[in-house]
Amino acid sequence: MSDYHDFDHFGLDPQLLAAIKAMGYTAPTPIQSKAIPVVLQGGDVMGAAQTGTGKTAGFGLPLLQRLLPQANTSMSPARHPVRGLILAPTRELADQVGDNLKQYAAQCPLRVTVVYGGVDMDPQTEALRKGAEVVIATPGRLLDHLQQKNTSLSQVLIVVLDEADRMLDMGFLPDISRILNLLPRERQSLMFSATFSEEIKKLAANFLRNPVLIEVARRNATAETVTQEFVRVHESEKTDALLMLLRGEVPGIGDGQPIKQTLVFVNAKIECRRLARQLQKAGVNADAIHGDKTQDERMAALDAFKKGTIDVLVATDVAARGLDIAELPYVINYDVPFKDEDYVHRIGRTGRAGASGIAVTLMTGADERGVAAIERLTKQKFTPRSVALERRERPPRERGDRYERSERPERRDRRERDASAGFARPPAKPADDFFSKPYEPKPAAADAAADKTEPAIKRKEPAKLAALLGGGKK
Ligand code: AMP
Repeated sequence: MSDYHDFDHFGLDPQLLAAIKAMGYTAPTPIQSKAIPVVLQGGDVMGAAQTGTGKTAGFGLPLLQRLLPQANTSMSPARHPVRGLILAPTRELADQVGDNLKQYAAQCPLRVTVVYGGVDMDPQTEALRKGAEVVIATPGRLLDHLQQKNTSLSQVLIVVLDEADRMLDMGFLPDISRILNLLPRERQSLMFSATFSEEIKKLAANFLRNPVLIEVARRNATAETVTQEFVRVHESEKTDALLMLLRGEVPGIGDGQPIKQTLVFVNAKIECRRLARQLQKAGVNADAIHGDKTQDERMAALDAFKKGTIDVLVATDVAARGLDIAELPYVINYDVPFKDEDYVHRIGRTGRAGASGIAVTLMTGADERGVAAIERLTKQKFTPRSVALERRERPPRERGDRYERSERPERRDRRERDASAGFARPPAKPADDFFSKPYEPKPAAADAAADKTEPAIKRKEPAKLAALLGGGKK
């Protein structure tokens, strides 16, 4: 596989080259150098990309290039069928990928549209019915639109599973399986994942045909541009330690100046609200972003953060997944993530596309095992620091619903909508025939008939994922 050092050598259309030039891309990133030629040749790809390495353009540019022969300015929806489908785990990531693809396609007549849950379906329905060659979607909302016959996937040429690991984590396997069954047998398939589990490998084995493995960094690696620090604190000192970090008062971390534009990760929604309030009381310009906020509220908080009107955004993993904030200098883990892989994703919010960043993790005595797991996963050894804090009496932490992970905005949205519309969600196929015929499109009528007799979808049972994917045992 050859590497290309500038965008001119890929044979990309001048309309695409002009668009990326306008975005300030001068040289391709490593994943782009490797993925663009393979995708242009029509090959399937398994992409193991570091977070923030430019993988969106790695698949987005060649995808658009391959669809360009069909680009047209006709007003007829029939002339704009879906040809490229990108599935993403969260609304934020779908939105972000959509923004990028829209910019890449800005100078050509290909239409790009984004659909995700948590917002009104009508504008999405309108866009889908007008026709769009490229659709970026979260799985649940796409199934809703397919069920309502707002779009069809029968002419898809290229499908991309972006952040496939997270889609499996979020329990989207049944939805993905249903969507894949609606795609033509002959197609190009691309899959990207920052981390690799056995389940991901099995999904790849079922979904991809003779894929080219493109790896630009060690699996489960953290970006080399990110300096990682661990700070030992007592549970009751966490907020004080965080304030010291934000003020630039922890020796050896940062340049001694107050830090701005910091994403602070916590493990639970309730913690997210509590901490944002505490920071505000301490005079910090902070806001919270978590799954209980409406999509509009989340977008408003994110926009304010990106513009710099908010200095500190306290976030849960679900809400922050895939956020792309250019050159975010700091990420602070107020809580050590429950899942070691989330550490890689969290700190991937900084040090993106070559910029340097600092990721600081606060750890208490209870976090030793969690940190050891992160060390094993990322093949690093950390030397935690201690900070001298003045011990103060703190109010006890609020208790309650700790786990954002249990919250599933898409499922909630759909359940709520289904309940208000007075109908039950169509049940899924029995677990054991997922992927048994991954490339066999089913006639729509047979699919509908099968749906009526199927048991209800049981999502989010990680232990069973291996079985779903081919009988592996945990
Ligand atoms: P991604 O990993 O696709 O989310 O990309 C991370 C960030 O890098 C985004 O802000 C992209 O717009 C930016 N980016 C991607 N490719 C390039 C490139 N070749 N040159 C400069 N910036 C890029």
